[in-house]
Amino acid sequence: MQVQSMHFKSRAAMKLADARLQKNLAAFADKVINARAAAIAELDDFEGTREAAVERRNRPLAHLDVWLDRFERAATARGATVLYAQDYAEAAKLVVAIARRHGVKKVTKSKSMVSEEVGLNQAFAAAGIESVETDLGEYILQINDNEPPSHIIAPVIHKDRDEVSELFARVHHTPRKREINQLTREAREVLRGHFLSSDMGVTGANFLIAETGSVAIVTNEGNEGMCTILPRVHVVLAGIEKVLPTLEDAATIMRLLTRSATGQPISNYFSLLTGPRSLGEADGPEHMYFVLMDAGRTGLLGGEFESMLRCIRCGACMNHCPVYQKIGGHAYGWVYPGPMGSVLTPVYAGVEKAIDLPHAATLCGQCSVVCPVKIPLPDLLRKLRERQVERGLRPWYERAALRAWAFAALRPALYRPMARIGARVLKWMGGDKGRIRSLPLLGAGWTAQRDFPAPATGRTFIEQYQARRGR
Ligand code: SF4
Repeated sequence: MQVQSMHFKSRAAMKLADARLQKNLAAFADKVINARAAAIAELDDFEGTREAAVERRNRPLAHLDVWLDRFERAATARGATVLYAQDYAEAAKLVVAIARRHGVKKVTKSKSMVSEEVGLNQAFAAAGIESVETDLGEYILQINDNEPPSHIIAPVIHKDRDEVSELFARVHHTPRKREINQLTREAREVLRGHFLSSDMGVTGANFLIAETGSVAIVTNEGNEGMCTILPRVHVVLAGIEKVLPTLEDAATIMRLLTRSATGQPISNYFSLLTGPRSLGEADGPEHMYFVLMDAGRTGLLGGEFESMLRCIRCGACMNHCPVYQKIGGHAYGWVYPGPMGSVLTPVYAGVEKAIDLPHAATLCGQCSVVCPVKIPLPDLLRKLRERQVERGLRPWYERAALRAWAFAALRPALYRPMARIGARVLKWMGGDKGRIRSLPLLGAGWTAQRDFPAPATGRTFIEQYQARRGR
């Protein structure tokens, strides 16, 4: 998928002005935040389970080569073929080559963010192979001119029922339906034909289990079962970081994954698939492939961003992010939105291509509070900001202002009188109401969307502190 993150500011401004999107995002955030809170409260020991999940994600990352090798041996022993791709181009080439080798004309796909990274649908189209998204949200986006997903769990959360209803009537040439169950039935009827005529199923992987050579896939719609059992060929496209040593590791992490993602104690479907169909088995694919992709993952190992590889793609950080809640996923300009995307996009696509993303955060810390695998997202965002400054990528006036501030902040005899003057000027600007309508220059962004509260007393913290101590 092409990176569009360099246009973040203009895209975010457009999304803020979109009243319909604002309504859809607000409805989603309230629902999912409440559901997660209730599901987490049911756990007897959330913090203990989180610690265990961190440990179970860190263990394979510490020796990724060893666990990948173990996974490959186990998967191969069960009749699957394991292939490795260095980058997106190689991953697409390998998957298309598998399709060609087996004379595939139609592919059914289960939701996979890695396939979005790779641009797999475009690769299939270029090879003359039809590929059909079968997750309901992804299907809606595909028939809407291949629109990209705006959320990693709920890809079509930016649209409401009326938009989907109008889209189905236009694309399916059917009478317009109003009820959600009528719309899902219509999608099911269309997709059933594709499932039955598909030659190859492509899925992602929630986890790759090294001890058994299995792939674990978590869904709510069951479409992944239709993609993996009916077609002759099953291809799993996954990042190399998805490997877990044991089934017990997956069981521990599953206690947190769906609770954090949708507020469910367990998803509707949890599939554990090991090798192709064996002799005497009634269903399953004749051929099973794993295409395991690096595409920047090994570059994070042992570095300051390694903790990002723990991510289990639950989406909790974006659901709780006040910035994501206002602008939605498309503004971020690549596959992964929200706080995790604001780290992953610059890390995978290049800091210079996503210059505004590490700043698209209030650093309120809520993302790390809810992250089930304790990724310190605010710290990582701060590190990316540091990198930008070190490489001179921030605008000259911002760097000059920060240098001036640092100069003053290191000299209390200069800083304190300046702060005193600033506090009094801000109080004066707030007037009787104590609200500042607009700030000039670098402060303008703070008041672009809302009023800024003026300091109530017009005195600095140190002045107030000293006054109280003296009392
Ligand atoms: S960073 Fe944490 S909260 Fe965000 S998607 Fe990944 S695991 Fe979930």
